[in-house]
Amino acid sequence: MLDLAIIGGGPAGLSAGLYATRGGLKNVVMFEKGEPGGQITGSSEIENYPGQKNPGESGFDFMSTWWKQCSHFGLTHTWANVTGIRKNEDGSFDILLEGDKIEKAKAVIVATGSTPRRAGFKGEDEFFGRGVSTCATCDGFFYKNKEVAVLGGGDTAIEEAIYLSNIASKVYIIHRRDGFRAAPTTVEKARKNEKIEFITNATIKEAYGDKAGLSGLILNTQNGERDLKVPGVFTFVGLNVNNEILRLEDGFFICDVVDGGQVDVDLKMQTNVAGLFAAGDIRKDAPKQVVVAAADGAVAALSALSYIENLH
Ligand code: FAD
Ligand code: NAP
Repeated sequence: MLDLAIIGGGPAGLSAGLYATRGGLKNVVMFEKGEPGGQITGSSEIENYPGQKNPGESGFDFMSTWWKQCSHFGLTHTWANVTGIRKNEDGSFDILLEGDKIEKAKAVIVATGSTPRRAGFKGEDEFFGRGVSTCATCDGFFYKNKEVAVLGGGDTAIEEAIYLSNIASKVYIIHRRDGFRAAPTTVEKARKNEKIEFITNATIKEAYGDKAGLSGLILNTQNGERDLKVPGVFTFVGLNVNNEILRLEDGFFICDVVDGGQVDVDLKMQTNVAGLFAAGDIRKDAPKQVVVAAADGAVAALSALSYIENLH
């Protein structure tokens, strides 16, 4: 039986792994379905992690040392897609893995983070991956010297629009209001950028194109419909928490959740189920920042250490 199972290898899961192994737990496995690093590895830049050596570096470069540090202290990475978590009568947990495998653990930290939300306009699914994207660092280069659109008014939309302006000939930011959730300094930077045009109080009615991919967008604006002929649109309209592994057969969650399925935890990152902890973007009221996810992971690991110690 594992001492501790950590589900997810983003900043929260990696930080939890570091604190759990350095705290003396011998048998700690981090289950991650992809490469360790989490969603920040898809970001073009990060500059707000305290003490960062190279502010403005890509998220991928920033995270590249985290796993090395964790494995140095004995964290094991199992490449697996976790499909569920069950609590047994003896207090232990079953970690259900794709392929009908089961691992047992004394305690579990869920750090599965969040994923980009779909905006819901007509043609979004049809052209996803063929002009509609949620990752500027992955797909931005396809639009070198072409015009692209960005949908959303949060930090991600405005930051990624600035990034895209270094590649594309022009970037339209389409936002449904004229107020922005993004940090005012970031919005200001975008407003000063000559390659960026804001289209506010506007929504995408429809994406159109052909077999080759997207050709343009029909917008609903205050002045009626507008045809924006762009071969690429990047949608950054918020995130959904990855909580499906907490769902039981009857449709209810294994632990308490609040608005939108965020996991309810206390200040120790403990859920209402003894031995089950949640950290990072998935927990309630998460500010969705790397520094917070990392701190949550550390707190969850310290709480798990104390929980496991008290089992003996
Ligand atoms: P995540 O980073 O989402 O990691 C979760 C991990 O769990 C993933 O690796 C995923 O593969 C894995 N996983 C999920 N489900 C399963 C499963 N069933 N089985 C196995 N593994 C699973 N924050 C900042 O502080 N500064 C920034 O500049 C910044 N820029 C950002 C830019 C972009 C484009 C985005 C998308 C986010 C940005 N953020 C930024 C937010 C930051 O990335 C997140 O707050 C942070 O990554 C959350 O960490 P996490 O560990 O909770 O989750
Ligand atoms: P977000 O802050 O939730 O913003 C989503 C944006 O999309 C909002 O402007 C929203 O409009 C708009 N929107 C939502 N649904 C829409 C729809 N169906 N159609 C059109 N527009 C829609 O999401 P985010 O920008 O991805 O940020 C997520 C979290 O990560 C935030 O907490 C953010 O601060 C954090 N983050 C931080 C940094 C950083 O620190 N540098 C960078 C990136 C992300 P309304 O405003 O009208 O609701």
